[in-house]
Amino acid sequence: MRLTIQAGVVGLTRRKKELLDREYSNLQKFLRGDKTVPLYSANKHQALRYYRRVKHKEYPLSLRNDLINLRRAKAFWFLKIPVYGVRGGIKVPVKPHREFPENAKLCESKIVKRKDRYIAMLTFEFPAPPVRECFSILSVDLGERFVATAVLWQNGSVMKALFYGKEIRGVRRHYAWLRRRLQERGLTQVVKRVGGKERRMVNVILHRVSKRIVNLALATNSYIVLGDLKGIRQRVNGKGKRLNRIVSNMPYYRLTKMIEYKAMLVGIPVITTSEAYTSITCHVCGCEGKRETQGLFVCAHCGEYSADLNGAINVAKKFERWMSYMPIHGAERVNQPITSLSWKPHP
Ligand SMILES: [Zn+2]
Repeated sequence: MRLTIQAGVVGLTRRKKELLDREYSNLQKFLRGDKTVPLYSANKHQALRYYRRVKHKEYPLSLRNDLINLRRAKAFWFLKIPVYGVRGGIKVPVKPHREFPENAKLCESKIVKRKDRYIAMLTFEFPAPPVRECFSILSVDLGERFVATAVLWQNGSVMKALFYGKEIRGVRRHYAWLRRRLQERGLTQVVKRVGGKERRMVNVILHRVSKRIVNLALATNSYIVLGDLKGIRQRVNGKGKRLNRIVSNMPYYRLTKMIEYKAMLVGIPVITTSEAYTSITCHVCGCEGKRETQGLFVCAHCGEYSADLNGAINVAKKFERWMSYMPIHGAERVNQPITSLSWKPHP
């Protein structure tokens, strides 16, 4: 499996900063058609190989597989960056965001520029850890009010119910408002920049949410069962344009990928399921109820519940039943990449 870790380029001397700045800006010029700028030959090759269609965008320096060189010296990591005029490139200290994985091979990586800072995006390749044996279920319902609602299901009952990512809606609303205001004033460049900021803010929240979910699954030896995107679309279909727009813009895909990825890193199996029927079934009596609003589920016999919880419990129950039918239980069965398994509950 692959993992990309960000590492800030730190403590550049003035000379190295100049060299790097020149290489980076020459790469942009080169990609806009100026073939005369001096550029390290490998960077030229990489540019020709990857960046065919250049628009109004900045491109990162790409570090070729065979040139990549990352070394530890005392407390620091040093990365070699090829720049024109310096044989073998310059050696710069980098500060990684997190620990590098063990037994990993460093692959083709990138240097991006953000404002006036450089960040190395280091991509590692390493064997996936073995899948753990699980005894309970962490059922995750993706929703609109809370980006994720999780139910920890053990021995036929709810042990924990958790709601995550409520702030996302606020962030998105704020930026939608801001974008409208900026557009009214014709500030399209600012609109773009603001969009990038929103995305990064939402990403920070998604990373936190996915980390919490995976950590909980790890601490409780749980399978993670996730509703898939098709399920969410089915659920809101025909419920008005506004809701459709909100849901189709929610970062479910990113969250799903983050959960799958973080789970794979620690050997927690993730099962995705189409959640058709689970949101209109009452988790207590199994009758068909109604989703009155996005947040409220009403059963004619049992009363009202949080719709997110109702959905998550239904998914957990159905997955439990499905598991009990499986001839071999636990880790043996899921030793294969269960992350790619799509489980469809029967109504
Ligand atoms: Zn009921």
